[in-house]
Amino acid sequence: MNALELSDKLWNGEIDAPASLATGDLAGAREERNPFVPLGALTEVAAHTAFVSSFANSCVFDTEGGLVMVDTGAPFAARGIHTMIRTWSPARLDTAVYSHGHIDHVFGVPVFEEEAVAEGWAPPRAVAHEAMPARFDRYILTAGYNGVINSRQFGADVPWPTEYRYPDETYRDRLDLDIGGERFELHHARGETDDHTWTYVPGRKVLCTGDLVIWCVPNAGNPQKVQRYAREWSVALREMAGLGAEFLLPGHGLPVAGADRVQTILTDTADLLDHLHDETVRMMNEGASLNTILHEVQAPSHLLEKPYLRPIYDDPEFVVRNVWRLYGGWYDFDPANLKPARSGELGAEVAALAGGVSRLAERARELAAEGQLRLAAHLVEFAAAAAPDDAEVHRARAEVYEARVEAEPALMAKGVFGAAARDSRAKADDGA
Ligand SMILES: [Zn+2]
Repeated sequence: MNALELSDKLWNGEIDAPASLATGDLAGAREERNPFVPLGALTEVAAHTAFVSSFANSCVFDTEGGLVMVDTGAPFAARGIHTMIRTWSPARLDTAVYSHGHIDHVFGVPVFEEEAVAEGWAPPRAVAHEAMPARFDRYILTAGYNGVINSRQFGADVPWPTEYRYPDETYRDRLDLDIGGERFELHHARGETDDHTWTYVPGRKVLCTGDLVIWCVPNAGNPQKVQRYAREWSVALREMAGLGAEFLLPGHGLPVAGADRVQTILTDTADLLDHLHDETVRMMNEGASLNTILHEVQAPSHLLEKPYLRPIYDDPEFVVRNVWRLYGGWYDFDPANLKPARSGELGAEVAALAGGVSRLAERARELAAEGQLRLAAHLVEFAAAAAPDDAEVHRARAEVYEARVEAEPALMAKGVFGAAARDSRAKADDGA
C-alpha cells in the first residue's frame, strides 16, 4: 500500500488512526495504522512529483531545470532519501527549500553536493526563511540541552548535531522561484517555528505545508522547546485552504489528494488551533490563572476524532500553555510560585504534616490506583524531594509515572513521564 492509498483508507475510515500511541486495545477487528509512522518509501503522487515518506517527509519536483526538493531529511535518513529519489529520477538537484530548521528536515543537501562533485554538476542551492541561520546558531549554543530533552522525549540517546548546512539564500515574507519554467511560491508563516515556509506550486496545484500539517494535533505545545505560534499558524492554514490545491504534501504523515480533502484538513486544523487560542486568550483577559485555564480549556472532541488530528504526538493542553507563554509572562498567577521554596524543604514540610514520606508515597499509590494520576504525581514528588535516597519512595514514584505513561495518548507526555519512571526504577533497584 503506497502513501496515497493509506491516506485514502485512513480518511474514509477503512483503517483507523490510533486514538493513543498506546495501541494495546485495538477495539475489535479493524486494522489500525498510525499515520505519523513513516513508510520509508517514495510515491509518485502526480506527474513528475514525488513524495518520500521518511522520519520527516521530502517532496520532490522533477523540472526542466533539475530537481526541486522541499525538505531533505534527518541526519540518519538523508542517504536513504537520496537512494529512493535516484530510483525515480536521475536529474541533478537544483534547489532545496527547507520548510523550517528542525533537524529532521535539513540534513539532505550534503549528500546531493557530494554527488554533484562526483558527476561534475553545478552544486545545489538551499533556500530558507531568514530566521533559520539564527536557529542553527542557537542549536549549536544549546546542543547539550537539546541532547538531554531529545533523549527524554524519545527514550534514546541521540547525539545533537553541531554542524549545519546553512541556507545559501534567505527571504523575509514571500519569494517566487522560477525553476525550469515553473513557479515555486514560498510563503513565510510563524507556526511550529519562527522560520516556517510553506510552498505552493500553482502549475501542479501541489501544496507543501512543512510541519504546519503533520496528521495529528499540531505541534504547537511542545513542553521542552521554544515558543510556537498558534494564531499565526491558523491564519496560514486558512490562506493555504483558499488556494484550490489538489495535493497537500505534509512534513509528517501522509499526502492528501483532492481539493475538498485538502481544504478540509487545513480548515479543521485551523479550527482546532483557533479554539485553543481564542478560549485561552478569553480567560487570560478575564484574569484567570494558568492552572484554571489549563483545566477549563478543552479541545473539541469532534476534531480530535479526525484521523489527522489525533493527540498522539503533542497534547492540546500543552498548546494552551504556549498561548499563555506567548502573550503572558512566566508568572502563572500562583504567588507561591513567584519565589518558590527549595523542593526538598517543601517536600519535607508536607511529609511531616502527612506523617512521614512513607505515608505520602502510600497516598500517591492510592490516588494512582483510583486513576487520580495528576494528584498522585504531586504527592510522590513531595515524597521524592523530601527523601531522594529512599528506595521505597522511588518504587512508588516509578509506579505512578509508569501508570501515567499508560494513560497519556501523546508521545510528549509519555516521554517526560517515562523518563521519570526509568529514573526512579533505577534508583529503587540500586536500593537507593
Ligand atoms: Zn518535523
